[in-house]
Amino acid sequence: MSQYCILIHYHELALKKDNKSWFEKIFQKNVRQHLGSLPFKNINTYASRVFIYGIDDKKWDLYKNKLKNVMGLKNATLMQKIDADLEKIKLIAKELINNIKFDSFRITTKRQDKSFKFTSHEINQIIGTEVQAISKKSVSLKNPSLNLIIEIVRGQAFTGYDKVEGYGGLPNGTCETAISLLSSGIDSPVASFQILKRGVKIIYAHFHSAPATNKQSIDNCKQITEVLSKFQPNSTLYIYPILNLQKIIMDKINDKFWMIMFRRAMIKLSCMLADEHKAKALITGENIGQVSSQTLSNIHAISSSSNLPILRPLAGHTKEEIINLANEIGTYEYSIAPHQDCCSFFLPLHPELKADMIQIERMESKINFDNIYEEIILKREVYKT
Ligand code: ATP
Ligand code: MG
Repeated sequence: MSQYCILIHYHELALKKDNKSWFEKIFQKNVRQHLGSLPFKNINTYASRVFIYGIDDKKWDLYKNKLKNVMGLKNATLMQKIDADLEKIKLIAKELINNIKFDSFRITTKRQDKSFKFTSHEINQIIGTEVQAISKKSVSLKNPSLNLIIEIVRGQAFTGYDKVEGYGGLPNGTCETAISLLSSGIDSPVASFQILKRGVKIIYAHFHSAPATNKQSIDNCKQITEVLSKFQPNSTLYIYPILNLQKIIMDKINDKFWMIMFRRAMIKLSCMLADEHKAKALITGENIGQVSSQTLSNIHAISSSSNLPILRPLAGHTKEEIINLANEIGTYEYSIAPHQDCCSFFLPLHPELKADMIQIERMESKINFDNIYEEIILKREVYKT
C-alpha cells in the first residue's frame, strides 16, 4: 500500500555545516507556518529532506501554492511512499503512467540510501524500459513531458512527477532582522523580496504626507505588505506621518535640498525603528541614476544619515528586470495603483543632483529634529498582516 506525502528539497542549507540542524529546525517551522490550515499529520526532516505526511493529496494545488513561497525551498513534489523494492516501484510507476497523458518521458532517480542494491542509473534504466514497454512513448532526457521522479531514502521509495520549484535562498528568520523602507512604488517591494530570499526577517516602514497627499500610498503599502507576507507570514508595517517635519524643512531650507532632507529624515526614523527591533540593516529600492535622489552623490548624502548599513539589492538592475520580478512576486499591480508620493509631491523643478555633505550638515543643524521625530513616532500607525 502506498501513502501520499510531500518531499521537499531545501536549497543552501547543506552549505552551513556546523549549524545545519539549526537551519533545518527553522525551515521546518516555517513550512508548518506556511501550510496554515491545510491538513497534515506530521513533518519530519531527515536525509537533507523535509517530509510532510498525512496530507490530503486532492488538495495538492493548494499545498503547492503555499510551499513554493517558503524561502529556502528548492522544490517540493507530491510523492507516493512505498518500501524500497524494485517490483513495488514498477507497480507504482505503471499505476502513475496509466493516469496521466504524456508524449515523452524520463526517469530521474536519486538514491540517498546507498544500501539499496541498484544504482540510480540502473533504476532509471529498469523503470524506463518498463514505462516504455507499456506506454510506447519515447525517452527525452532534455525536454520530457513527464519526468518520473524516484527517490530512495532510508529503506523507502518515493515516486511522483508533480514538482513545484521554489525560490531557493535561506529560511526566513535565519539571518537577523532588517527594516525595509517601503514606498508604494515598484522598486522597494522587489528589494524587500530579494532580501527576504536571503533569510532576513523584515519589518516594513512607510512614510506619508497625508492629509496634504491622499491616503492611497498607505493603502497600497498595506496591500503590498499583504502580498509580501506570502513569503514571510505575520509581517508588520509601521506607517509614519511626516507632513509636519516636511513643512519645517520646506520652511527653513532651500527647495533644492528638500528631497535629500526628507530622505535623511526617513533614514533616521528607520534607524530608530531598527533600534527598537534590534535590526541590523536598512533596505531600500534605490537604483543608480533612476531619479534625482539616486545619483551617487545623493545616495552618499542620504546614506550618511544612517548608523546602519543600507542594503540596495536593486542598485544595478534595469527597470525591466525590476518590473519582471514585481510581476512574478505579485506586487506590480499594487505598485502602479495611482498614489501621491510624499517626496515627489513637494519636489521642486530643479532638485540638487550632487549634494555636498558639509552644506547638508550645516543646514540640518538649524533644525531641532529630535522633538519632531518623537512626535512622529507617537503618531505612527502599526499594521499587521
Ligand atoms: P520605489 O519604486 O521603491 O518607490 P523609486 O524608484 O520611486 O523607488 P525613490 O522615490 O528615489 O525611487 O525611492 C528610493 C527608495 O527610498 C525607495 O525604493 C524606498 O526604499 C525609499 N522610499 C522612498 N519614498 C519612501 C516612502 N514614502 N516611504 C518609505 N520608503 C520610501
Ligand atoms: Mg517611489
